[in-house]
Amino acid sequence: MSDITAPGGELRAPAIPLHDIVPYAIFFALIAILLLYFVGAEEGATSIFPGMTLHEWVHDGRHLLGFPCH
Ligand SMILES: [Zn+2]
Repeated sequence: MSDITAPGGELRAPAIPLHDIVPYAIFFALIAILLLYFVGAEEGATSIFPGMTLHEWVHDGRHLLGFPCH
């Protein structure tokens, strides 16, 4: 148990308004969707980048997440 106490008594986490979180939530959701696309769908007809380099980079993640591969 810690002997450290807050000067004013009880220590509380600051409340963060929802409208302050929304831009970060949108940003991280877009990054997550982009990563999910590259791991799950960047192959064949839906491929943006030609070749198999990107597929090989995310190949283990593809199998880990259960996307069909080979
Ligand atoms: Zn595979």
